[in-house]
Amino acid sequence: MLLEQAHPLEDSERVPLRDAAGRILIQDLLSPIDVPGFDNSAMDGYALHSSDMALAQTRGLVISQRIPAGVQGKPLQTGSAARIFTGAPVPEGVDTVVMQEACRIENDRVFVDKPAGAGANIRPRGNDITAGITLLHAGTILRAAQLGLAASVGIAEVEVRRRLRVAIFSTGDELIEPGQPLAPGHIYNSNRYLLHDLVATQGCKVVDLGSIADSLDATRAALSTAAAMADLVITSGGVSVGEEDHVKAALQSLGNLTLWRVRMKPGKPLASGRIGSVPFIGLPGNPVSVFVTFLLFARPYLQRLQGRVETTPQSWPVTVGFDHRTTDRREYLRVRLSGDPLRGLTAEKFPRQGSDVLSSVAWADGLVEVAENTQVHSGDTLRYLPFSEWAR
Ligand code: AMP
Ligand code: MG
Repeated sequence: MLLEQAHPLEDSERVPLRDAAGRILIQDLLSPIDVPGFDNSAMDGYALHSSDMALAQTRGLVISQRIPAGVQGKPLQTGSAARIFTGAPVPEGVDTVVMQEACRIENDRVFVDKPAGAGANIRPRGNDITAGITLLHAGTILRAAQLGLAASVGIAEVEVRRRLRVAIFSTGDELIEPGQPLAPGHIYNSNRYLLHDLVATQGCKVVDLGSIADSLDATRAALSTAAAMADLVITSGGVSVGEEDHVKAALQSLGNLTLWRVRMKPGKPLASGRIGSVPFIGLPGNPVSVFVTFLLFARPYLQRLQGRVETTPQSWPVTVGFDHRTTDRREYLRVRLSGDPLRGLTAEKFPRQGSDVLSSVAWADGLVEVAENTQVHSGDTLRYLPFSEWAR
């Protein structure tokens, strides 16, 4: 439902390659050139015509020129060889490079001890990239390899999607900021920091509005302010069923609530809707629920707003090393993989799985999904969702 309602941002900007890391391409990137642009040597060695190989093994070849990388050699006379280095252009018509370890120099002539066939050790023009091909598709996120690839064809600037602005705030009268003394009955605001990093890691600009009191007025005011400043508003807490939970009512008075409550554990009270035209996701208050619902709902949604096509969280099957029984809610257990990767990994479960136990997330390297109404036995194979993927 969320993904269907997600309208990708249209605005784009041109940025130098150096500033493009983590950004999303808005148009296909075509290569203006072949890479490499010329046949070149894959080795330090000697370039020669393969028709001279027999001669090179018996009487040797005179070394008629020296071609380091960056130098264009001259045409190579038959019966002679060129000293050549890795990356240097191979002279026109020359079809073989013999690596220097297979050669010996005697009386200024090169003798080949271990012959190589025609085409050996030559990287042909266009071996990596052909001019005109689509190098990178629109929607691709630019990381080290993609930035390097764009640079390799001489592209200095790219057209990328404007950064998504995401406003976040936490709700709760009990919240105190780290660094302040803790008053009786209060807790430190962990969601603010957790959520800030989760959103920032997605390449978004975070508008951090701190925390607000549990009142309808404060919640309405904060939602309006947030919506005026951002493309998307994400909050934590205040979406459950108690009368101290004001987010739903505030949302309904400013826009609409399109989704509330998901049959899952943790994360049941997840809410979503719009503040005017600005999309809103209300994550639950418990920090573990924030983490899990962010991965499963907010992150794919953010990615879709950013124009990403593939938003499904990465997962793979693992064997579990525990028993577990679920009720009518689907569960996401905090687990850690152990064992030998070649023999198959086993997922171990953190002993305390409460939605308030943030230690479980810090300990775990991923989640295991257990279907509703299921008895899991040690040795069963289940779906594992790695946390490492969140940084991508
Ligand atoms: P709520 O959904 O607002 O009732 O919150 C559910 C639980 O999460 C309560 O125990 C809250 O104290 C806790 N909680 C809510 N917001 C935060 C926060 N920002 N940091 C840490 N815990 C929170
Ligand atoms: Mg609350």
